[in-house]
Amino acid sequence: MSTGDPHGEAVAASSRWQSLSAGLDSSHKRIDEIFACDVFDQRKMRERLPKNTFQAVMNTIESKGKLSTDDAEVIATAMKDWAIERGSTHYTHWFQPMTGLTAEKHDSLVTPDGSGGVMYRLSGSNLIQGEPDASSFPSGGLRATFEARGYTAWDPTSPAFIVRGKNYATLCIPTAFVSWNGEALDKKTPLLRSIDALEKQAMRILKIFGTDFGVHSVGSTLGAEQEYFLVDRNLYFARPDLVSCGRTLFGIVPPKHQQLDDHYFGSIPPRVNAFMAEFEEELFKLGVPVQTRHNEVAPGQYEIAPLFESTNIACDHQAILMDTLKKVAGRFGFFACLHEKPFAGVNGSGKHNNWALSTDTGVNLLDPQDETHTNTQFMTFLCAVIRAVHIHGDLLRATIAGASNDHRLGANEAPPAIISIFLGDMLTDLIDQLESGKPNRTLKGGELDLGARTLPALKRDSGDRNRTSPFAFTGNRFEFRAVGSTASVAWPNTVINTIVAESLDYIATNIEKSVGDDTNSEKRDQVVRKVLEGLIKEHKAIIFNGDNYAADWQDEAAERGLPNLKTTADALPALQSSKVKTLFKKYKVLSNTELESRSEIFAEKYITEISIEAEQMAAMAKTMIMPAAIKHQRNIAEAVGATEGVGVDSSVLRGELEDLVEMVGELKDRIESLEQVRIIADGQTMMKCEYCRDQIVPAMESLREIGDRLEAHVEAELWPMPVYSQLLTLR
Ligand code: ADP
Ligand code: MG
Repeated sequence: MSTGDPHGEAVAASSRWQSLSAGLDSSHKRIDEIFACDVFDQRKMRERLPKNTFQAVMNTIESKGKLSTDDAEVIATAMKDWAIERGSTHYTHWFQPMTGLTAEKHDSLVTPDGSGGVMYRLSGSNLIQGEPDASSFPSGGLRATFEARGYTAWDPTSPAFIVRGKNYATLCIPTAFVSWNGEALDKKTPLLRSIDALEKQAMRILKIFGTDFGVHSVGSTLGAEQEYFLVDRNLYFARPDLVSCGRTLFGIVPPKHQQLDDHYFGSIPPRVNAFMAEFEEELFKLGVPVQTRHNEVAPGQYEIAPLFESTNIACDHQAILMDTLKKVAGRFGFFACLHEKPFAGVNGSGKHNNWALSTDTGVNLLDPQDETHTNTQFMTFLCAVIRAVHIHGDLLRATIAGASNDHRLGANEAPPAIISIFLGDMLTDLIDQLESGKPNRTLKGGELDLGARTLPALKRDSGDRNRTSPFAFTGNRFEFRAVGSTASVAWPNTVINTIVAESLDYIATNIEKSVGDDTNSEKRDQVVRKVLEGLIKEHKAIIFNGDNYAADWQDEAAERGLPNLKTTADALPALQSSKVKTLFKKYKVLSNTELESRSEIFAEKYITEISIEAEQMAAMAKTMIMPAAIKHQRNIAEAVGATEGVGVDSSVLRGELEDLVEMVGELKDRIESLEQVRIIADGQTMMKCEYCRDQIVPAMESLREIGDRLEAHVEAELWPMPVYSQLLTLR
């Protein structure tokens, strides 16, 4: 029961955990016994399906055929039997609409049996196709509200799974979501299309090098690291800004926050560790291969990273991970905060998107291998990424744009809004060699002698890492670090797949033209080197190995002609350029209409989030901060009166009072200024975005400044909401 004292309750919750952890009970289930127990994966299909039906599913997964209605019927029955054995009562087509969240509409697995009872049933058509009412999902003008039809279509490449809670278990069938006209209304459909486009072009490159033998497919792989904050729920509910905006709109950092770097990789607090263990157990059951957990830089900030998987599955798993994170946090009295910048003044959260290319035979095409200078195929894939990121830096920036990520990008702990590539010493040296002819050496890292006889010599990488780059090569993959922590990773990967497909296409076309059917590998390598040399000359401006946080990088980037799109309002117009339209159309990832609808949806989301924040902020300033400040002012005024009443000089106190009166006046003025600008007039969407950027955001910053100044002055007892020192440290 609430005592009306959120701080007291948060302290009690924290202490309870400290004492619980003393009576150590480290019983847990063996991971190998529970892993994927709630997933209808290939292993279970092989066990439960007749041989030819199983083969039919595998053919569909490997895009070698389409399922017949009879096969669908058999699969649906096997899936249903498995699901009810595991306690499911309902099923849902699970999809990822443009809200960036997941959607589900549960239907019961039972139907009347014709003699007064019920029987369990899932038909083949129920498995393959659904028809949720699409009218309340964002469509960006793709359909009017009265045209409500939308369809979901089973994605057999991503396995069905069971989501369960205290008294429910629901079979979730991953699906794509399209309109009545077949236009994509979700994040999965274009992702799957981009995977097809990438595969087609990558296979051409393998053919050129004669390395396609036994390879049936090439796809991108994805490992997405998720950063997040945990806040005690008692405190969370006492902060209307966290509840409605996911971030604090006011607040000052306490004297000690992250300066001592004592949180990063520090020992994980018991309550948090207990939460992580349960969170991971749920993920293991759902087949999500979680690997890493640790404290992040800011107090109260953590990270979880699963092992990489094929991109489609990794994207579904990311969505499951975010849902599970929020659910399980609640059980431990935490609110899981995924916002990119919940607290001003300490680090924000990202979702580092590790991306590589792999054949179905398990070869990572971005693995440089030992003698990299002889690995022309690797250099080809590397150069394709360089070209893609240079040509489409503005698109990549637009891809990760949003009101919340705006607070993080460009701030000094996060990648800047300028997109560039970090390659490191070894690859940069190789690129330089390629530019001037035939590469003949690979820089080596050598060994590190630690100077103590008992310590082993360490194998050193050929270059250091760069934590400041938005798009960094990290050994055998690229890490797109600018992706925000709230983002669905499906869209960024759709874009990366497509732009790389375009560059592979360009390179393959150029090589094929000159090489023809000649299979002489020396001649081929010569042609390839020539193509890559030209490509490097044209696109090397995107490579930057220095400190991306440094101020002079902004100037240098401008000289190099790299865009610096600081806000969402600056970034989104890239989605409307003819370059981008042609790209998506050519590779059949998004039609012009589908792209326009996306651009509209992203812009509307930006506008709506900023409007909500502005309204919430004005309300908090009026109904919480103002009354507290006035009470404090009255207390001081009374003290001045009482002091002077007994004939004692109170000029110091009087000065304090005068300052306070001025601040309260300032608060009132700035609330009014925000109130005046926060209503957005009707108009063209992009104009409204600019209005948000130019009018509302500055008015909010100005109001925050005075609100925060008051927090530093008003008596702590009177301050009407939990402060950062409580939010960041109670756990
Ligand atoms: P970091 O030191 O960068 O924080 P982490 O171990 O936290 O490293 O995360 C690295 C991520 O990169 C993991 O999700 C890992 O599975 C992923 N990864 C490793 N190799 C590949 C690859 N070939 N393709 C995609 N992701 C990869
Ligand atoms: Mg990490």
